[in-house]
Amino acid sequence: MQQKTLIYNTLTRKKQEFIPINKGKLGLYVCGPTVYGEAHLGHARPAITFDVVYRYFEHIGYKVRYVRNITDVGHLTDEMADEGEDKILKKARLEQMEPMEVVHHFTESYHDNMRALNTKTPSIEPRASGHIIEQQEMVKKIIEQGYAYESKGSVYFDVLKYNQKHPYGILSGRKVEDMLENTRTLDGQSEKHNNYDFALWKKASPEHIMRWSSEWSEGFPGWHMECSAMSTKYLGEKFDIHGGGMDLIFPHHEAEIAQSTAALGHESVQYWMHNNMITINGQKMGKSLGNFITLNELFSGSHKLLEKAYSPMTIRFFILQAHYRGTVDFSNEALQSAEKGFYRLMNGIEAIEKIKSSNKSTINVDALIDKCYAAINDDFNTPILIANLFEGVKTINSIIAGNESINESDLTKLRKLFNDFAFKILGLLPENKSDKEDNNLSSELIKIMLTMRVEAKANKDWATADKIRNELTNLGVIIKDTKDGFEWEMK
Ligand code: ZN
Repeated sequence: MQQKTLIYNTLTRKKQEFIPINKGKLGLYVCGPTVYGEAHLGHARPAITFDVVYRYFEHIGYKVRYVRNITDVGHLTDEMADEGEDKILKKARLEQMEPMEVVHHFTESYHDNMRALNTKTPSIEPRASGHIIEQQEMVKKIIEQGYAYESKGSVYFDVLKYNQKHPYGILSGRKVEDMLENTRTLDGQSEKHNNYDFALWKKASPEHIMRWSSEWSEGFPGWHMECSAMSTKYLGEKFDIHGGGMDLIFPHHEAEIAQSTAALGHESVQYWMHNNMITINGQKMGKSLGNFITLNELFSGSHKLLEKAYSPMTIRFFILQAHYRGTVDFSNEALQSAEKGFYRLMNGIEAIEKIKSSNKSTINVDALIDKCYAAINDDFNTPILIANLFEGVKTINSIIAGNESINESDLTKLRKLFNDFAFKILGLLPENKSDKEDNNLSSELIKIMLTMRVEAKANKDWATADKIRNELTNLGVIIKDTKDGFEWEMK
């Protein structure tokens, strides 16, 4: 049985029944990564959240076009004020690489991580730098409609003008009047009419090497432009679902709504979905806080905050154990309990093979199937769905113990239930335990060797300390000495 699907729409702040624009089809756009660094937990959550949305709609028969962009230009270091250095260019300068080398390297590494997490690849993965013309065309339309102005070679969106006709701030709940009070006044040197106006096109400074010609200046598009231009190009002027992390609601998604409305005369998106954030031991994740854990570090256990390596499926299961709109706090304790839960579920599913059917069923498989659909249809409530799957595991165990019995057709249904919900929809994979144990064993051995090296150094036994370092380096272990000992990672 399949009931109606409810989605919490950030725009209306309530759960609404999902009704597609075109019957049987779904257009889904999700903001992808800015590829200037290794992917971390903050990237895993939206990728997994919207992977389940993608998988579920495909499962119930929709033809889904899933577009997730790659931001490779225009995302500036001060994203609130729309100022600063381009994140890609900054990384390229620090690493002495070509900007496109940075983009290629981190796009590949993002893809590797996403594959490990078993997220399906989107239908289209457009890049901002490959859609400069489309962005320029859209900027022109916005200027024509009178909602943007040129200033010293840059083009800015005129928030005040827009707000006279269309409310600005409908997604985030911010009001322009409050923004007026809360932003510092401009010093007269600024190119913008108002502080909260945002760039649609920026004139490039002489050292800015990622630049394209336009009728306004040699420059580059503003960060928000790419998503409006590329979603319109691939999904049309109106499409079903736009997703992303909650941190993107303002200014990024608010700006997208304004840009599309200004250029097209109407809003584009029917349902806005936002996943909540991830904290680490109760703290916000940040490079300066030293709790910034990349996915590769999680998979290898090499970050100093990690007691061990955690497999991609443990991470996936952990994220799905929380509802996507709730916060998730990562800690070793929580990850280890997720790991146990994941294996309990996988072992339970494996045990189905041991079941022998009999003539009659004492259990109600249909009721369990209905409960699973009810959970996923209730705004993708994966924790309830997982609880239902554990109930199924309990049933399997009581059949094996001889306390319950199941007939052939119910057994077939039960197998299909697990195959559909655990593997196809939640996207879990039965993991090869030996790989994981190997990983953990090597990470433990490396830690033992490095501790011995610290002891050797304390005893001024430089020969042993150097030997350990050299041998580990030969094996591809990168060692960093720190004031409290060491950090390491695999090359
Ligand atoms: Zn976006």
